[in-house]
Amino acid sequence: MRFYLIGHERINPILQLLICLYPDEEHAQGDPAEGFEGEYVISELRAGEGHLVAEARDYRGNVHTVDCPAGMTAEDPAMNEYVRRAMYHLLLPMLEEPPVWGMLTGVKPAKLVRNLLARGMTPAEASESLRADYYVSDKRTRLAVRAGAVSQDYKNKIGTKDIDLYIGIPFCPAKCSYCSFVSNDVRSWGHMVEPYVQALLREVEGMGRVLGQTGREIRSIYIGGGTPSILSEDQLARLLDGIHGHFDLSHLEEFTLEAGRPETITAEKLRIAQQGGVGRISINPQTMNEEVLRGVGRLHSAQDIIDCYRMAREVGDFQINMDLIAGLPGDDDHSLISSVEQVVALDPDNVTLHCMARKRGAPLRFGKTGTLAAETVDRCHEIIGSHGYVPYYLYRQKYIAGGLENVGFAKPGTECRYNVVMMEEIGDVAALGSGGVTKLVYPDGHIERITNPKYPIEYIQGPEKIDQSLSKLLKALENH
Ligand code: SF4
Repeated sequence: MRFYLIGHERINPILQLLICLYPDEEHAQGDPAEGFEGEYVISELRAGEGHLVAEARDYRGNVHTVDCPAGMTAEDPAMNEYVRRAMYHLLLPMLEEPPVWGMLTGVKPAKLVRNLLARGMTPAEASESLRADYYVSDKRTRLAVRAGAVSQDYKNKIGTKDIDLYIGIPFCPAKCSYCSFVSNDVRSWGHMVEPYVQALLREVEGMGRVLGQTGREIRSIYIGGGTPSILSEDQLARLLDGIHGHFDLSHLEEFTLEAGRPETITAEKLRIAQQGGVGRISINPQTMNEEVLRGVGRLHSAQDIIDCYRMAREVGDFQINMDLIAGLPGDDDHSLISSVEQVVALDPDNVTLHCMARKRGAPLRFGKTGTLAAETVDRCHEIIGSHGYVPYYLYRQKYIAGGLENVGFAKPGTECRYNVVMMEEIGDVAALGSGGVTKLVYPDGHIERITNPKYPIEYIQGPEKIDQSLSKLLKALENH
């Protein structure tokens, strides 16, 4: 949809709202000086009687106005809410269903809850604010308040020396059609895995020095990807040895290996992981529907997932997470619910239910994202909840099906610290590997980012770039 701004330049609140309400359309800003064309909306900020008025109107002649508080200026950051609210109410009557997240866009729901609590609200008042000010549904309000409370608990416990580590392994057995991560198919790029591991071990050594010099205490390590279990037994063992050799792990509370795809997991790799201190793994079906699995390019069957899960339970005392995706191409409500039921029947410690998100860079050119019904996802949440799982973190993405969310569920006491710290950006996370983005969180909420080269080839061939990132990190941590 084309949108025009008059009297203000607040692009983000309007654009984010349009993306959220109409994820399958292209949106572009027009210049009012050139006249209004086609199907469009206008967001205007104009003077009223003693106050500003946020007005939204469309090409059909519909208008919605919101009076801003007296004394509020056009520059006030809170003005975003007023221009967004006017636009939301203009568009709401045209939608089939009110969005479950109301007009909440561009902010993490749990972070908003934390901010409301920090302003002195009780959880009940924060809930009321989500419902009344942002039009969030009752169910999503409960989800947000729960995630807000969990993340606040973690935030309260994070010490000034704490740091969490992410180690990326950007290789997979085959590319899933919906994936936009920089992940290299080993059928073409397998020759790069060993040089990558060697470059990574070099960075592990450098990171160990930086953290040692700055007295940082590692609380969690998350080896993610890609598919980290694509590493050979020898490579995995060397990586774990490097971690033990160069990091002080005396404060480590949690160590995760995102194994991911069952065809890469062997009993021996799991034994190596366990001996290397890994306490959590993921075995990710995404769906238990064979046809859908094949359709998105996965090389394993649903039975492989079950066999792999049982093998992992036999090998060690891991906490196991399983990921599912709602809204995969070719999937339907019945099959999704069946996948959820089959996964919870296995009794993993954590279940994460994602909703399909359209992403630039993914090979898949799929159709509408908005067809996933909130009721179907609600039903999945109910099934998961009825097996003793409690939601503990959530996040939303642009272009996510149905404007919904991704939710991590855990049996009480098995929550993943790394997921909360990283998703909620409440503590420092240092990232190793190609595409790694280190985030240092300052007390005023400002986040400093330090990036590694994006692609494995640059990472392997550019040790000086890694050294630069480590030097920047050292400097930042010394002043942090
Ligand atoms: S396994 Fe994960 S990282 Fe690899 S291609 Fe599939 S979605 Fe992407």
